[in-house]
Amino acid sequence: MATRVLSSPKLLKNLRTLIRPLNSAASSAAAAVSPLNFDEKPELSAVEKLHPTTTTTLHQPTTTTTPLDFDDHQKLFASVSTLKLLRSSVNLGLASNETFVDFGMWVMNSRLIETPLVRDIILKTVKHTFFEHFCAGETPAEAAECLRKIEEAGLRGMLVYAVEHTSDNAGCDRNLEGFLQSVEFAKSLPPSSVSSVVAKITAICPLGLLRRISDLLRWQYKDPSFTLPWKLNTLPIFTDSSALYHTLEAPHPLAPQEESDLELAHQRLVKLCQNCAQNNVPLIIDAEDTSIQPAIDYFTYSSAIMYNKHHPIVYGTIQAYLKDARERLFNAAKTAESLGIPMGFKLVRGAYMSSEAKLASSLGFDSPVHNGIRDTHACFNDCASFMLERIANGYGGLVLATHNLESGQLAASKALDLGIQKGNQKLEFAQLYGMSDALSFGLRNAGFQVSKYLPYGPVDMVMPYLLRRAEENRGLLSTSSLDRLLMGKELKRRLKSLQFAKSGMAASAGSMKIEIGTP
Ligand SMILES: Cc1cc2nc3c(=O)[nH]c(=O)nc-3n(C[C@H](O)[C@H](O)[C@H](O)COP(=O)(O)OP(=O)(O)OC[C@H]3O[C@@H](n4cnc5c(N)ncnc54)[C@H](O)[C@@H]3O)c2cc1C
Repeated sequence: MATRVLSSPKLLKNLRTLIRPLNSAASSAAAAVSPLNFDEKPELSAVEKLHPTTTTTLHQPTTTTTPLDFDDHQKLFASVSTLKLLRSSVNLGLASNETFVDFGMWVMNSRLIETPLVRDIILKTVKHTFFEHFCAGETPAEAAECLRKIEEAGLRGMLVYAVEHTSDNAGCDRNLEGFLQSVEFAKSLPPSSVSSVVAKITAICPLGLLRRISDLLRWQYKDPSFTLPWKLNTLPIFTDSSALYHTLEAPHPLAPQEESDLELAHQRLVKLCQNCAQNNVPLIIDAEDTSIQPAIDYFTYSSAIMYNKHHPIVYGTIQAYLKDARERLFNAAKTAESLGIPMGFKLVRGAYMSSEAKLASSLGFDSPVHNGIRDTHACFNDCASFMLERIANGYGGLVLATHNLESGQLAASKALDLGIQKGNQKLEFAQLYGMSDALSFGLRNAGFQVSKYLPYGPVDMVMPYLLRRAEENRGLLSTSSLDRLLMGKELKRRLKSLQFAKSGMAASAGSMKIEIGTP
């Protein structure tokens, strides 16, 4: 098998240079390997780790097959049209151009954007580039068309009505309507095309109230005698390693108006969960930053206790870049298990790293994010391993949301080792739409269930999401590097075979002429 890996020396070389810095390979290798139960042998090369069969007999006696194959770009992108491949390459190339992204961000944050003409030009440019690449459309009808194409490619969609933070009840009510439409829309499509609906709690509960609830929950964790009369049953939200520095003194109890706003927010979530439960559409709650995450977890877990009966309907999100993530996941999952609640988790690394660091340092504390990326990788892989073992025992649900090849490969191998059937509905891999298509297709080709996270909504509403994607993809060695490399190779191959076909046709046309002209 080693020869197969080495059969494409240039790709091998590129993969090495790309993946090492992308995943801090030598470091992430050690980190991912040592604390994990995936395998015990450190210091495999990035490519070896991408192709476990190359090392199976030596280092991974329990792994029997190579789950993912990234070498065959023809097979990986077989379901993608040449036009789409070309557009994706151009868009990802633009997103990786630091000057372009810096300029775009500068314009978006400047007063220029307030000028109607400039705003119009920018929104139109964004719509035909990044928006089309990273989003499913502006309306449910456009999203349906996108979902159809995704389903044709053997993938499913996580439907995301892309609203973010809201500060008042009227805005929250409007957003709830958007989420409910998403559920209706999901129900109208075959389950083979939609795996779940995604919501942000910040869209249905005012931000200020989420901060207050988080403060109160934190204080109660510090002082268990502190009573919260409004508090419903929940799973554990904190551990002793959780960041509690946001709340340095006892907060006031909720004022009557706040209590009534909380009740309204709770009713919105209940309505959404009821709709999802009735229509058997899983609801995934996104994670945000630590200043409000305790309240988000509180809402998520209290509704999961109510609605997760025979299988998970409500899924929470764990951000593995947080120092307390491992312990928090273990506590919540084990408590849910002991209560007979099938809890679902989406596992991500986390997208608010710089704002977390800024906030913590402004308060004079260390960032709640792991000190190095190795620790984040190790934490993600540990959490994945822990949940996969639970899935193998028939408990809970897991969405492994990552673009990291090594994590994808490790989890796929572990799932096979544990005998988790590839079609098992409790395990889903997920990548953002427009990102890491190679990983999505590799997992799909290996038989796993794979979803694309599909935000939809008006361009200006989706802007904060697009800015986060631009940030994530900037730089030559960004997440999209491998995709760009493989897409480029596949485009070159298609161009060559087109030229070959053309010259073949020309040759046969020539010989036909001769034949015709020969009496
Ligand atoms: C389907 C899906 C849903 C998502 N939902 C959410 C969500 O609800 N909430 C959320 O916050 N994010 C969410 N994300 C985004 C996710 O958190 C990541 O930003 C993104 O996916 C990159 O992580 P990765 O696993 O793909 O790993 P990689 O591609 O390996 O990315 C690693 C990145 O992690 C960062 N990083 C993390 N920890 C450290 C550290 N200690 N030191 C230095 N760098 C570090 C770096 O920026 C690095 O580039 C989601 C992603 C997907 C695919």
